[in-house]
Amino acid sequence: MDTMTLGSVEITRVMELPVLRLPREFVFPDVPVEPWHRHRGWLAPEHLDPAADEIHMMMQTWVLRSDGQTILIDTGVGNGRERPYMPMFAHLDTDYLGQLAAAGVHPDDVDTVICTHLHGDHIGWNTHLADGEWRPTFRNAEYLIARADFDYWNPDNEHDTRAGRQWENAFEDSVAPVQHAGQAVLWDGDHYDVDANLRIEPAPGHTPGSAVVLLRSGTDRAVFAGDLLHNPLQIAEPDSSCFDEDEDRARVTRRRILEWTADHNALLIPAHFAGAGAAEVRRNGGTFAVKQWASWQ
Ligand SMILES: [Zn+2]
Repeated sequence: MDTMTLGSVEITRVMELPVLRLPREFVFPDVPVEPWHRHRGWLAPEHLDPAADEIHMMMQTWVLRSDGQTILIDTGVGNGRERPYMPMFAHLDTDYLGQLAAAGVHPDDVDTVICTHLHGDHIGWNTHLADGEWRPTFRNAEYLIARADFDYWNPDNEHDTRAGRQWENAFEDSVAPVQHAGQAVLWDGDHYDVDANLRIEPAPGHTPGSAVVLLRSGTDRAVFAGDLLHNPLQIAEPDSSCFDEDEDRARVTRRRILEWTADHNALLIPAHFAGAGAAEVRRNGGTFAVKQWASWQ
């Protein structure tokens, strides 16, 4: 089990699926092949398979123990979903709750769920199927959701999203039941303090309500960056976009968060990095570079 302690906060990495190997052009259709060639020396083999032309992604979540609370950042894809336009995530039957148990967490122990955004691979275990109905998996938890994403992805509002029907049914099976159970806390404004160590801040672009979780405890710093980055290539090439609703806004946000990370000696913990899953970064001319990969116990 991958665990580390930053300040007084214990972080545990909990995987939902084995590493996903996906065609590079499927994940990064707008990024030319050249930067992948240029950076393959440090991206392969963990993050890139140059021979197969595939990139590697993890479906994983983060358990934090902070201030006496158990906090879950993102909840993966979930089991038993109808995803007609995302077949690789349809009808999964993983032992994610067993992985969570191995990390010492029973669903009833979770006090807070933080959704970095409402794409279907971040909200799945918000709910589970019980007696034919989608119900909150974490029945004692508050679910912290940015109002901007709640409103944007709510099908009642009929927004014309760039993702189109990609995540069809996800709001209905993974968000609405939490709201109906009275467990959703829709936050807005320029920040939301979870506790003395953790603050959520808007990081719009990937989705309108995308957020990062800043950890400050003692002298340690980390940022849970959600889908601001999908692959470490984007540390070196921060203008490279991936599944972003608003690419220009995402580029501005990605650079801002990378600057904060470099300047505060923080650990960058995106949602989907394979390999070590997290890294310290430094400024490198106009972009950034990996200073050191995370080391877990
Ligand atoms: Zn994602």
